[in-house]
Amino acid sequence: MNSTSINWTDRTWNPVGGCEKVSEGCQNCYAESIAEKFRGGKAFPDGFGLTLRPHKLSEPLRLRTPSLIFVNSMSDLFWEQIPDTYRDRMFDIIEQTPRHEYQVLTKRPEKMLAYAERRGTPYPANFWGGSRSRATGTSVAPIPFARFLRRSGSSRPSPCCRHFPIST
Ligand code: SF4
Repeated sequence: MNSTSINWTDRTWNPVGGCEKVSEGCQNCYAESIAEKFRGGKAFPDGFGLTLRPHKLSEPLRLRTPSLIFVNSMSDLFWEQIPDTYRDRMFDIIEQTPRHEYQVLTKRPEKMLAYAERRGTPYPANFWGGSRSRATGTSVAPIPFARFLRRSGSSRPSPCCRHFPIST
C-alpha cells in the first residue's frame, strides 16, 4: 500500500492491475501508460493486462492509522475481467476494516450496481463509489455513490466537487 501525493486521499491500494478502455473518457488513461511502460516488470508482468496481486489484499489490515484509501488507482474495480470471487475478497477486507474509508472510482457504474445486487448486501458504510459521466466526464453517479458527497462538510477536499484529476 503506497502513500500518495493525491490530495483527496491518504493511500492507494492496488490488489488488481490492468483494465480495458470503455469510453471516450479513457482516451488519456494514465494507468495504461504507466503499466505499458513497465510491462514485463514485477508490478506489471502483462502490462495493462489483468494482474491479480493477492499478496496485497491484506495490506489494509496491517494499516493501523484510520486512512482514506483510494482503491485500484491503476485499474477499474468493476472491470468485467476481474473475477467476482476476487472482488469478494477485496470487499471482505473493506468490511473488516471499518477504521478506513475506501474510495472507488469506476467508469462502469452499472457494473457497480450489479455487483451490489449479486452480493445481496448493501455496500459497506466505509465504501464510497464514484463515477464520471461517460458523456461529459464531469459528474458523479447516483445512489451508493452519494457517499462521496458527504465530504463537502469535511476539512478535506471533496472529490466530487473538485472533479477527479485522474482517469478512472
Ligand atoms: S476505466 Fe479507467 S483504468 Fe480503465 S481504461 Fe478507462 S480510464 Fe483507464
